[in-house]
Amino acid sequence: MWEMETLEFQAEARQLLQLVIHSLYSNKDVFLRELISNAADALDKLRLAAFQDKDLEADLSDPRIELTVDKDARTLTVRDNGIGMSRDEVVGLIGTIARSGTAELLAKLRETQDAAASRELIGQFGVGFYASFMVADKVTLVTRKVGTTEGVSWESDGEGTFTVDAVADAPVGTAVTLHLKAADAEDKLYDYTDEWKIREIVKRYSDFIPWRITLTGGDGEPINSMKALWARSKDDIKPDEYAEFYKHVSHDWTDPLEVVHMRGEGTFSYDALLFIPERAPFDLFRADGKRGVQLYVKRVFIMDDCEALTPDYLRFLRGVVDAADLSLNVSREILQQDRQIQAIRKRLVRRVLQTIGALEPEKYRTFWEQFGRVIKEGLLGDSDNRETILGLSSFATTRDAAELTKLSDYVSRMKDGQTDIYVMTGESRTTIENSPHLEAFKAKGYEVLLLTDPVDEVWVDVVGTFDGHPLRSIAKGAVDLSSAEDAPEREEQRKDFEALLGFVQGQLSEDVKEVRLSTRLTTSPACLVTDANDVTPALARMYAAMGQ
Ligand code: ADP
Ligand code: MG
Repeated sequence: MWEMETLEFQAEARQLLQLVIHSLYSNKDVFLRELISNAADALDKLRLAAFQDKDLEADLSDPRIELTVDKDARTLTVRDNGIGMSRDEVVGLIGTIARSGTAELLAKLRETQDAAASRELIGQFGVGFYASFMVADKVTLVTRKVGTTEGVSWESDGEGTFTVDAVADAPVGTAVTLHLKAADAEDKLYDYTDEWKIREIVKRYSDFIPWRITLTGGDGEPINSMKALWARSKDDIKPDEYAEFYKHVSHDWTDPLEVVHMRGEGTFSYDALLFIPERAPFDLFRADGKRGVQLYVKRVFIMDDCEALTPDYLRFLRGVVDAADLSLNVSREILQQDRQIQAIRKRLVRRVLQTIGALEPEKYRTFWEQFGRVIKEGLLGDSDNRETILGLSSFATTRDAAELTKLSDYVSRMKDGQTDIYVMTGESRTTIENSPHLEAFKAKGYEVLLLTDPVDEVWVDVVGTFDGHPLRSIAKGAVDLSSAEDAPEREEQRKDFEALLGFVQGQLSEDVKEVRLSTRLTTSPACLVTDANDVTPALARMYAAMGQ
């Protein structure tokens, strides 16, 4: 046995706790959702561990989540007989915030003076277990990990330190006891020892949790319906129910932007309940970021972050796919090859792209602002759906500084005789707009797409055409804007300038391939272009930066 220790919260964890305690979140009821969500995860994990390790002595006879209130002591306990935590896990998981993006979150929070904006930020991040401190001035946790003999207790008032101690006789699983704050009029804190209140919260936020949630002292009947939401018929599901389920699977605190609920029957049956978040998570562009949806097989949780089910460019999707005909024993490696998974994935992708394409304008704008950069990665990776992805993408254009445009709208505005879709890539809208390449296009009233995301450099070359119209980078090769009537005049000009061109060519022979008369300039005397087959200047800079 080891001795009791007092440890300090990691600095970031302490800061986040302070924010939580000083009630950044207005709806305090959700603390219970977080604790039940953790308990449900722990039960999922125990079942999975027992399945993967036949020697593990796991009791799966009566998995459940038990809520106990003590009115006199003013405590509320959430107990599960799930997987439990070791001492190191308790210290690591509860005492620190390992999640990526914490530093950015805190930095942003410090900049924000506005309480509503702060709540929104916290909402994106989710505070999980720490939500307990919104309603409790002391939290005690007792746990024992399956397969180990010694339990652990953890206790804290959320101020700066916590204690951990060994416990001899803890059952496998975790019990979290909240010592509730005194209800104070100003704070409008509900009495969470009130059974009726507890029932109401569970019904509202955790009804779909697939494990029995019971209330000690009640009739032993579960107080949740336990019905897997994805298996229910769409027509009976209320928006609120979708929203709560989304929060459970995503650990997000805000409502989803859009729900995609679909059922596949036939060779491969499955239910899929997918969500498009309203905001990009902090780790969207991190290599270690969370990706993928949960995989269930016949209502049994198999894994989180199942990358095989969704392509990388849809990694922001959250939700559940329940496949009927898979073995419970699947591994990640097998999944990548599995024909059923591949078939399901294909259909999910198609439906999600369809849904995005059909979003109402307001939602679409939000979506594109948050996820456009990720979606465009699909132009490279997913050649099957390239045209669809192009069709639902939108781009900045010379036409209007504020409005993005879809390619179909661009095409409908093309000038008589115009066949190509003109694009220009660069680091920012200002650099592009000041570039001499753009002059003649502007002068002649051609619309040009202004592409400034790093990924734009790459896909423009790969994509080729949209709806039969070639995408043409105006910084490349000879772009001929002069019409047929101008031809004789141009020929004359060429003659006039022949001597000059020859001279300049001679002077610059070390540095440029060719010097030619341009139709693209109106006010600038000269500009540099690359060959049609060469990389664009911005891409050349990117390669140079990568040391190539
Ligand atoms: P999240 O659930 O988003 O990971 P939380 O703050 O809610 O964040 O929980 C942090 C971690 O602590 C969980 O990921 C889990 O590993 C562990 N944990 C929390 N509650 C329990 C529990 N009841 N049983 C087992 N592990 C738990
Ligand atoms: Mg949690």
